[in-house]
Amino acid sequence: MSHQDHPSNINKPRRHFLRLTGASVGVITLASVAPKFARADDLPHLTSDDATAKALGYVEDSAKADSAKFPNHKPTQQCANCNFYQGAAGSEYAPCTLFPGKAVRGKGWCSAYVAKA
Ligand code: SF4
Repeated sequence: MSHQDHPSNINKPRRHFLRLTGASVGVITLASVAPKFARADDLPHLTSDDATAKALGYVEDSAKADSAKFPNHKPTQQCANCNFYQGAAGSEYAPCTLFPGKAVRGKGWCSAYVAKA
């Protein structure tokens, strides 16, 4: 058997082809299943029915937060001035890093509130 007939040499182009097509299929598959970047307008609004929202005392109106349960709450604390709020100033709803896939109200509040630095 000559050097060129060696099985590892015969299959080189085939392996190269398979590697390329495999990589291409992987990229195409990833692109098709990766979530599209969602605009805040497209996201469903977080409601107080959500289990995590309930646990954190989320309300759409900061003035309506349960002050007995959350004595450190201040009405000036609102999602719009929280460090986790992803919206521009003045946006009515925007994503919050604590509630992926949902939009919270700029005037809302939850007990995970952290003032923007
Ligand atoms: S973490 Fe901040 S932005 Fe998110 S819901 Fe709570 S108060 Fe609003």
